[in-house]
Amino acid sequence: MSQSELHATALALYPEDYREAAALLKQAVPLMVRHNIPPNPVHYALWYTYSKGLEPELNRHLDRVVKDFDYFPSESASRLFRDYIIRDELEDARAGQQQAINLVDGMERDVSHSVSGSLNFKASLGQCLEMLAEPVDKRLPAILSELQQSTQAMHDQQERFLSQLHTAQAEIKNLRDKLERAQLDATLDGLTQVLNRSTFSRLLEQALSTPTHGVALVMLDIDHFKQFNDQYGHPLGDRVLKHVGQVLRSSLPPQALAARYGGEEFCVILRDCADLSAARDFAQVLRQKIQALRIKARGTDEVLDTVTASFGVALANAHDTVESLVIRADDALYKAKRNGRNQVV
Ligand code: GH3
Ligand code: MG
Ligand code: MG
Repeated sequence: MSQSELHATALALYPEDYREAAALLKQAVPLMVRHNIPPNPVHYALWYTYSKGLEPELNRHLDRVVKDFDYFPSESASRLFRDYIIRDELEDARAGQQQAINLVDGMERDVSHSVSGSLNFKASLGQCLEMLAEPVDKRLPAILSELQQSTQAMHDQQERFLSQLHTAQAEIKNLRDKLERAQLDATLDGLTQVLNRSTFSRLLEQALSTPTHGVALVMLDIDHFKQFNDQYGHPLGDRVLKHVGQVLRSSLPPQALAARYGGEEFCVILRDCADLSAARDFAQVLRQKIQALRIKARGTDEVLDTVTASFGVALANAHDTVESLVIRADDALYKAKRNGRNQVV
C-alpha cells in the first residue's frame, strides 16, 4: 500500500465531522474516567470507536475487559487496537506480526524438544545409576557410552535451540526496525524529514481546536527554485530541500512543528504564539538562515550558489479552520513574492 493510500484509508476510519467527533469524544471520555483508563491515544481510539458502536465485537471485548480487571491491561489495549482499529491499514505490520508469531511457535516447539531431550537424558542417567549400584564389571564401558550418547543428543538439541533463538532475535529486531520505519514514514516527509502534509493538516486542526493557545502559521516558498533546478539539476535541488528541512528542524521553538507542504513549500505551526510580531521575528530568523546556506558542489568546498525564500505569516483567530488559515498565510506569501521575494509579509 502506498503512503498516500495509507493516509486515505487511515482518514477514512474517522469520517465524522467536527461536531459528531466532539459528541463521540464526550461519550468516550466519561467512560474512560469511570473505568480508570489512562488517557493515551490508543485508549482514546478504542473508547471513541466503542462510543461509535459500529464494532459490536470490540464493545463486547471492552465490556469484558473492564469487568474482569480493576485496571486496563496494556496488552489488551494494544491487541484490541491492532485487531479493531488499524487492522487493514498496516498490512506490513500485520505480516510482520504473523512472522513473529511463526517464529515464537517454532521456538516453542524447540523448547519442547529440548525439554523432552533433557527428560530422556535424566531417564538414561537414572538407568545408568541403577546399573552402577550393582557391582561394576565389564558393563562399565557400555554404561559410559550410553551416557555419552544421550549427553551428545541433548547437547545437539540445545545447540539447535540456541541457533533458532539467535535467528529469532535477529528477525524480531529486523521487524521492529521495519515497524518503527513504517510508523515514521507515515508521518514524515522522506526527503526533508519534517512532517508530511497530511500530518501537518491533522496537527494544525488539533492546534486550532485548543483555543487557549495562540496559533500562528508561517509558510515559506523557495525563490526561483525552478531556475535553480534547471541550472544545477534536480539532485542538487533535492539537497537544497534537505538543507531547508534541517534549518527548520534545528530552529523550532518548543511547541512548534515544521512540515513540508508540498514541492518547495514548507510551513511551521507556532503554538503558544500570542502575537503576530513573534511569528514575524521567527520567520525573519528562518529567512536569514536560509539565505546564509552555502550550496556546495558534492564532496567539495566549492560554493555554487545560495538560495532565498519568501514568507507569509498569519495569526489564527477563533473562527479559523485549517483551510482559512492556510489561505491567509499563502496570500501573505504571495505578497512577499510580488514585493520582490526574500522577505516576510
Ligand atoms: P517562485 O520564486 O515564484 O516560487 O518561483 P519557483 O521557480 O520557485 O516556483 P515554481 O512554482 O515555478 O517552481 C517550483 C519548482 O520547484 C518546480 C519544481 O521543479 C521544483 N520542485 C518541486 N518539488 C521538488 C523536489 O522535490 N525536488 C526538486 N529538486 N525540485 C522540486
Ligand atoms: Mg511553490
Ligand atoms: Mg518557489
